[in-house]
Amino acid sequence: MASSEELISCRNCNAQIPQQKFLDAYKVCPKCNHHHYINAYERLNLLVDESSFESYDDGLFSIDPLGFPEYGPSLQRSIAKTGLRSEILAGIAKVGGYSTAIAIGDLGIKGGSFGSVIGEKMTRCIERATDKKLPLITVSVSGGMRMQEGTLSLMQMAKTAAACVKHSQAGLFYISVMTDPTYGGTTASFASLAHVILVEPGARVGFAGPRATASLREKLPDNYQKAEFLLDHGLVDRIVPRNEMRSLLIDLLDFCSP
Ligand SMILES: [Zn+2]
Repeated sequence: MASSEELISCRNCNAQIPQQKFLDAYKVCPKCNHHHYINAYERLNLLVDESSFESYDDGLFSIDPLGFPEYGPSLQRSIAKTGLRSEILAGIAKVGGYSTAIAIGDLGIKGGSFGSVIGEKMTRCIERATDKKLPLITVSVSGGMRMQEGTLSLMQMAKTAAACVKHSQAGLFYISVMTDPTYGGTTASFASLAHVILVEPGARVGFAGPRATASLREKLPDNYQKAEFLLDHGLVDRIVPRNEMRSLLIDLLDFCSP
């Protein structure tokens, strides 16, 4: 049977989607509009001009600074499985012809948890944008903080936030794209400090994740921490379907370019 006739099962509605149709729709279900996860390289191909990405800081990779039980081997398994050397892609690319500093998250290594490497690569990316007077785009996806790094993880929130402030004070433009899921310190630092915050339909975005909020006595709305709930409460600026994200980024860069 030809590969184009292979079927992908939607994780949300179980619709059987021909593989090529699924890929052509950037992994969005044509029946229920569920936006399935795409990795950092797929996201990069979707958003930036072809062959324009220059990667930086590829030599930064996570270690096990505290000797946390079982962490080191599981980190190595994650790295081997994904082929990613570190947790995010960061560099400079063109988007609609505009030179832009860009950082893109990935869930492959330890669920995209926010530790020293993400913090350092993100900070360097923001500072590079400031030095070169470039706009900044970040695409977030993260399960939370890298608790196996302890305080070394938590301090990355303040570090990236401080870099965002300097970028903004230099009069430079920042767009944050949040995708499913974005939790923990990512939401509580750089990803929420942009001038424009965009989110994919149905994306779950919050500080404390569902396991933490499940212990609350208060009954939370069914769509709590979903993109549509966040828009209603003013936490994000627009919900943007995946196939419209690149053109909107270009419009925003065009509108805000000097
Ligand atoms: Zn579906």
